[in-house]
Amino acid sequence: MSRVSVVSGSEGRFPKSLLEFQRRFATESACAEYLFERRWPEGFVCPGCGEGRAWLLKTKAFTYECADCGRQTSVTAGTIMHASKLPLTIWFWAAFLMATHSNGISALQLQSQLSLGSYQTAWMLAAKLRRAMVNPEREPLSGVVEADETIIRFRTKNDPVVVPAGRSGVGKMLVAGAVEIDGSKPRRARLKVIEGFGKPELHAFVLDAVAPQTQLITDDWPSYRDLPGVRHNAITLGPMAAHIALPWIHRLFSNLKRWGLGVYHGLRKTNLQHYLDEFVFRFNRRRTRHAAFDTLLGIGTRTTPIPYRVLIRKAA
Ligand SMILES: [Zn+2]
Repeated sequence: MSRVSVVSGSEGRFPKSLLEFQRRFATESACAEYLFERRWPEGFVCPGCGEGRAWLLKTKAFTYECADCGRQTSVTAGTIMHASKLPLTIWFWAAFLMATHSNGISALQLQSQLSLGSYQTAWMLAAKLRRAMVNPEREPLSGVVEADETIIRFRTKNDPVVVPAGRSGVGKMLVAGAVEIDGSKPRRARLKVIEGFGKPELHAFVLDAVAPQTQLITDDWPSYRDLPGVRHNAITLGPMAAHIALPWIHRLFSNLKRWGLGVYHGLRKTNLQHYLDEFVFRFNRRRTRHAAFDTLLGIGTRTTPIPYRVLIRKAA
């Protein structure tokens, strides 16, 4: 058994590059140490009795036993890695790729990048990580928000990967979107699959996505009229002007479509909302990839990690 103690002073900085990440999380114990630091930034605290003395068990991986009450706590408890047979390094790598790859990453790419033996394993990893992106951020958009709607083609089971334009049998899906604008820059976004472009659908989307008193900018589509509690600025547009009046939501839609084609060879109808959530998750965290990484692995919700270094020294 080993005694656990904590010494402050190291840089708890999150790796910025792939190379740095690879070096820092090269081993199981390096990953476990990170989990320990995120869970107990000021040293081990027993979730059972609140005391701080514990031993690292030799018989169970990365599990601590409280010296006072005997309760055993794993560093992976409460994360998506818990009870998984996969090494922590694989989870860490997969989450890093998912969080930082600006175009996202498919199960097939994950399999080859991580040299995983089976596609099933890669698919499971991707699915679990993607599930962590669903309903990622429920704080409504506020301030100035652009909203619009678009049509996305999806590929059905029997369609070829490359679908000729206008091909019959290719499905279309309606998507509503909103982007929060901060000065001249976009901040967060929302995307939702909707059943129609009518008032009920678009009102429901907007009222769920934005805070009261938001300054909403839309085109002149009548379904956006009479939104209760929202300051609305409808702009009458010629057919070519939408990308000028609503630049950010249009850029978001075109990035979404390009992403869907590039990463998944065309989005599928099944789970489209999950793909939208993935796209939005990455968009909303494009400047805070550390937070994205932690969220994906289900690691704590504390704001910033305190840079402590954990030293595990062997007991006599
Ligand atoms: Zn205890």
